[in-house]
Amino acid sequence: MNREPRVVIIGAGVAGIATAVTLQRAGFHDFTILEKGSDVGGVWHWNRYPGLTCDVPSQLYQFSFAPKPDWSGLFAPGAEIQRYLRDVVDREGVADRLRLDAEVRSAVFTGSSWRITTSDGSELDADFLISATGVLHHPFTPDIPGLDTFAGDVVHTARWDDGVVTDGRRIAVVGTGSTGVQVVSALQPGSAHISHLVRSPQWIIWAPMGLRQPALLGRLLRKAPAVHRRIYGLLLRGSRILTDIALRPTRQRWLAQRYARLCLRIQVRDHELRDSLTPDYEPFCKRQVVSSSYYRAIRAENAELVTSSIDQVTPGGIRLSDGREIEIDLLILATGFHTHHYMRPMNLRGRDGISIDDAWAKGPRGYRMTAIPGFPNLFTVLGPNSPTGSVSLQYSSELTARYITHWLRRFRDGEVDTVEVTEEATAKFNDDVAVALGPTVLNTGCNSWYLTDEGNVDLWPYDRKTMAAMLHRPDDRDFHLQKGGGL
Ligand code: NAP
Repeated sequence: MNREPRVVIIGAGVAGIATAVTLQRAGFHDFTILEKGSDVGGVWHWNRYPGLTCDVPSQLYQFSFAPKPDWSGLFAPGAEIQRYLRDVVDREGVADRLRLDAEVRSAVFTGSSWRITTSDGSELDADFLISATGVLHHPFTPDIPGLDTFAGDVVHTARWDDGVVTDGRRIAVVGTGSTGVQVVSALQPGSAHISHLVRSPQWIIWAPMGLRQPALLGRLLRKAPAVHRRIYGLLLRGSRILTDIALRPTRQRWLAQRYARLCLRIQVRDHELRDSLTPDYEPFCKRQVVSSSYYRAIRAENAELVTSSIDQVTPGGIRLSDGREIEIDLLILATGFHTHHYMRPMNLRGRDGISIDDAWAKGPRGYRMTAIPGFPNLFTVLGPNSPTGSVSLQYSSELTARYITHWLRRFRDGEVDTVEVTEEATAKFNDDVAVALGPTVLNTGCNSWYLTDEGNVDLWPYDRKTMAAMLHRPDDRDFHLQKGGGL
């Protein structure tokens, strides 16, 4: 028997594009990518706030199958990454499989396949459903009293309004993650005044974020693809330092934490300001913030670090808990995302009608980032426990997609009709993850977006080699396989 599996991929961000191209290159062509946005890119499509720059070196922040030698800088701006992703989709010939403005409203397992319904009411049937919906997608807007009474402009960084004027205005920025730090650094020079409202300061390490890549280097690397591939390989291997920092209390972690403290001490000489900027948890516990300009921006004459909490937003500004009122024209919320809403709010129903909300009532939980008990022939790419800041997301996506192609091949060859990860294998994986998370820096007592509502760290606690071994090929003992008929 030989049949082509019908596949639907949800999402055309980094994970979705990696999946589509991997499938295509493995000889699977009957797939459709459904993307709710008006263009590809995921976070790099939705985010376009001033200052948006990727803090991962561009020569690493690329797919292994689509090397780009000629980035404009060591760290590329967001718009350039979005263009790269669009270019990959076009060049790899998957654009005609892409449907934009197509939000998936429901995906229901019928007993043998998936029925997917999109926002315009169209229906698709698929043998396999691959969810590549990402984590940093649904903007989180805090419930600040009086927010709706503000007479000026309010904008969330993840839904930036290009019409909003920033120059010459009095601005307040709430939030001090990677986004808040980038937006404050970008807007301070042109603003009349900028107040950065910081509930919990972050450690901010210095890196040459503005360093340009010489055009000549790009041209030379384009002429020498083997050298370029070697550089990519070296960077991938070199990024192991991030794993060493994250996973165990190694010397590398000690040195990196020293560096973070030194960055603050050297760049902020004023003791009062430095105290206000000093976090009460270990460096690298939260997703590490990288910047070459924030400390300079916050020291500027027209900038102020505000550590008093927000009491209320008023028509003219923000009243603080210390009774002071800051008058502003523009309020920017750099307050992050609902990070554990993978796939929601779609109505996702697996075997026997079980909903993802019920399956994940105690928080997101999967097997090796990619399979969920109760949801046959569904796989996630960059699903629960995916790495952030320790292993390349492109690498992880490609690896997971290749893992999924094993199942597609077996379906094509008529070996299996449906495949579902067992509860036992998932429980064991999650128990092992909990143990492995113990000595990680992520578990050293900070409040971060990695934590689920239940207080679990939703991240990858292993190195790249372990990831590659776990996703090398499926282990049949961990799955219920079904041939001919339902599960
Ligand atoms: P985030 O790290 O979750 O930060 C959200 C910020 O909002 C925190 O400082 C939080 O304070 C604050 N906040 C939330 N509610 C608040 C309230 N009611 N009052 C005051 N402050 C409030 O979000 P993010 O900065 O958007 O970054 C998310 C992730 O996106 C990053 O960690 C990174 O993985 C990714 N990112 C990457 C880049 C890049 O260059 N590669 C750039 C931007 C973002 P608390 O800490 O006190 O909760």
